[in-house]
Amino acid sequence: MSIRPIILIICKPWILAGIIILLILFIGAGSLKLTSAFSSSLKDKVIVIDPGHGGADPGAQNSGLKEKEINLDISLRLGKVLESKGCKVILTREVDRDFFLPGFVKGRMAKRAELNTRIKIATENNADLFISVHANSFPQRNSYGMETYYHLKSAAGKALAEIIHEKLTQVQPDNKRIAKAGDYYIINQAEMPSVIVEVGFISNPRERKLLLSEDYRNLVADAIGAGVEHYFQAFPQGVQENSPTAGQEGPPTISENTYKLYFSNENLDSLVPEDRQINKSVWTKLNLSQKASLVMSELIQGPLSSKLTPTIAPTTRLLSVTTQNGLATIDFSKDIRDDFPGGASGEDMAIKSIIWSMTQIPGITSVRILVNGEFGDSIGGHILLDRTFSTQLGV
Ligand SMILES: [Zn+2]
Repeated sequence: MSIRPIILIICKPWILAGIIILLILFIGAGSLKLTSAFSSSLKDKVIVIDPGHGGADPGAQNSGLKEKEINLDISLRLGKVLESKGCKVILTREVDRDFFLPGFVKGRMAKRAELNTRIKIATENNADLFISVHANSFPQRNSYGMETYYHLKSAAGKALAEIIHEKLTQVQPDNKRIAKAGDYYIINQAEMPSVIVEVGFISNPRERKLLLSEDYRNLVADAIGAGVEHYFQAFPQGVQENSPTAGQEGPPTISENTYKLYFSNENLDSLVPEDRQINKSVWTKLNLSQKASLVMSELIQGPLSSKLTPTIAPTTRLLSVTTQNGLATIDFSKDIRDDFPGGASGEDMAIKSIIWSMTQIPGITSVRILVNGEFGDSIGGHILLDRTFSTQLGV
């Protein structure tokens, strides 16, 4: 091979410049091609976006701010982001509305029918993904940070949640929360990969201020949109569902001298046990239902440590506690629902704290939660109390 062409290039700078320009054009064309290939991964994908709550159901409320309004606004922005990437976007609601059946805004069947309508929209439209947008609230004003939930048994939901959460963390680098399995009705029932994105705490002054700004809402919408795009790039064929069976570790069994009550930590990301001394002379005389009743009354009274946060509204009264064949049925007054501060994460903590505090008692393996005598209501609108709970998530 002759080396003359190389010498020619070196000797004649205009040829060199020409080649560089050609190279730039070539690389440019290549990256353009690449971009359009990425966009096509989203083309014709049907994404159902579900702005949580709405209408008669405000969701979490804090100092005049309603969760439903933030959910809707960010969802509308997310819809535009995904449409610009080529997706077909369907919102379960585009205005301030709910899906309650007439006359059933509260009580046993209300929330189930409401949530089922949202899921049906996704099913009937053959959605590839279902994204439910919510905001958190918590009595501890320090709690902050976006969260992403998936169904425990969905590998695709987990992959999607982890990718979205990674993008959200880029918007909020000090967010230490991770994508995690959540036992919420809407992601339990949806047939396609689905996530709940909690865009932040309206009870945290700093995050509340951010959530009120348009720029921040756009950043959040862009991040979720980027997560969806990345998901389809990473898994063009989808993710194989392999039904992992890992459950959540339950509470330790009661010791001889103490039992534990479970409360939320300050960050609303884990349950923390607090010991109570057992008065043996009293305890041994109690039957199982009375023991369960005693533990539950103390749980409602709340933690002794100021570092822990109650999981149940302190106005709640215990209407009855019965036990049969290992199943404890606890009937709470409707205050547990009406005075609940709102937020999916707090609701998850409330239910887990009840189950964990109950199932540590030898002889109790599962729990049913009634609200004002009714089975199937909901404390905060994300988890339906229409089943028997044990320490296994999603069972
Ligand atoms: Zn919510």
